Amino acid sequence: MNSVILTSDRGTFTNFGGMSTLGYVACLPYRVVPRPLMNYIFAPEVRMKNGEPEYVPYALRKVEAALHANGITDVSIIPPQLLEKYVNENTKVLGINVHDPYGLSPVTFKLTMLFGGGESWTAKFFDELSETVSRLKSKYHFKVIIGGPAAWQIGLKKPDWVDTVFNGEAELDFPLIVKKALNGEELPGSITGRMPKVNEIPTIIKPARFGEVQVTRGCPRGCQFCSITPETFRSIPYEDIEKEVKLNLSTGYRDIELVSDDILLYGQKKLQANEEALVKLFTMVKNLGARYITFPHISAPGVLSAPKVVNEISEIAGLKEYMAEAPVVGLETGSVKIMRHYMNAKPFPWKPEDWKYVITNATPIMNDAAIFPCYTMTIGYPEETDDDLDQSIDIALSIIDNKFKAWVFPLPVIPMTSSHIKDNPFPYMDKLPSKYWDLLYISWKYDLYITRIMMPHMSKKMNPVLSGIVNMMTSSIFSHIEDVFRELAETHGHKAEDFANINLNTVTGFIKSMYWLTRATVSTSASRNPKKISS
Ligand code: SF4
Repeated sequence: MNSVILTSDRGTFTNFGGMSTLGYVACLPYRVVPRPLMNYIFAPEVRMKNGEPEYVPYALRKVEAALHANGITDVSIIPPQLLEKYVNENTKVLGINVHDPYGLSPVTFKLTMLFGGGESWTAKFFDELSETVSRLKSKYHFKVIIGGPAAWQIGLKKPDWVDTVFNGEAELDFPLIVKKALNGEELPGSITGRMPKVNEIPTIIKPARFGEVQVTRGCPRGCQFCSITPETFRSIPYEDIEKEVKLNLSTGYRDIELVSDDILLYGQKKLQANEEALVKLFTMVKNLGARYITFPHISAPGVLSAPKVVNEISEIAGLKEYMAEAPVVGLETGSVKIMRHYMNAKPFPWKPEDWKYVITNATPIMNDAAIFPCYTMTIGYPEETDDDLDQSIDIALSIIDNKFKAWVFPLPVIPMTSSHIKDNPFPYMDKLPSKYWDLLYISWKYDLYITRIMMPHMSKKMNPVLSGIVNMMTSSIFSHIEDVFRELAETHGHKAEDFANINLNTVTGFIKSMYWLTRATVSTSASRNPKKISS
């Protein structure tokens, strides 16, 4: 086996049952999602086919390409559950890419808090990987380098089996560290990789999961809670994108996902959408043979300042036929004070005081172009009060009252060590303004309504059996969830403590949970319909 092996934890190295949004299930406490559901639906193991994993996350492909470009070709990518089989005395370096190893990402932090605390599936999967790597390392003595978007979490508490925590971008410095390890030289405990120019970013050499192709890096808006800084922005040249699209399509992918922090930034000048560059990009990908072209992020001010181009790219990308394009869009806050302080350039070319206007006018443009935004909000800044939350509730209501096809997710703002707010306190439940729970309730009530409408379209791309299961679960689970969020609002979050009783992953825990859930359901029904219960 190769001297360099790259891997990821299971929560990252999976295809999420064919629908990337199902990846959020791994952000729940592991107690509340039975392992068989993770194994067969939400995070199935990737299998090997002709000596290669059936699909590989784009980040690992990019690191593999960087190693090859630097003459390190004795590299293989191995799924976590197969490390025991493939790691041996030839292995000198194990590189691990992580996305949420300690369960501290905003979505995980919120979901674990709401469901009574405890370890998330993302953290559980990392624990399982840790156990395997630690055992193999004591046998074969290879070096371990951990990087990826959540390397900052490892930096908070570095396990003793990790040699180097690698922050930042991989292309320039990761190969140097690997060479050092191969030469038996001492490694630094942590390092921040320098930022490559676009001509220093090699294209992937084998296909990436979901047909992903990165088209921009970084973001010029400079929000303080984000680890991406304005000076990091780059647009990837057409020729490189073309190569990666061709590669993905030639190996069986039918759709292409263009990865960026805001698709409308491609080729931008001074934050103005570049219509010519965008239309050229989408047309090229379509002409290469892509059926649908999707993108994980877009911005509301970008949409409002370039409605024509949004419609054009939607037409080229086939989104009106696809009907499942739900990119993440930063809504963040309704508070002018919080926006001015933490993300002054977010609404550019508008001002923080225009933010509600931007959102209420950009959302229908997106919906007309068959783009259904997943709005994320960041809540829990130290100076945030109930007055600020009233403004955030107001902006959420402007989406709800207009019945826009959009989701609103109020998430706690996490002080990532790689951001400008690293010294802020963590937004634990008792630190959140009391009206957070009202915002959460109205948002989730609407999210459930929209999910019921959208899920049949969105699950069409899944295997039909899984799609049927997901749709059935959606309708049966949702009838109870709304009551849960109402109770969370009424108790200012303390209802969450009840969920600490649930454990669906041990036999006694399962029996106790069923007992508890039955009681909880009966008491909820009783409070909704007292006559029926007493008769
Ligand atoms: S707009 Fe988004 S990607 Fe850009 S800095 Fe702000 S949060 Fe980060």
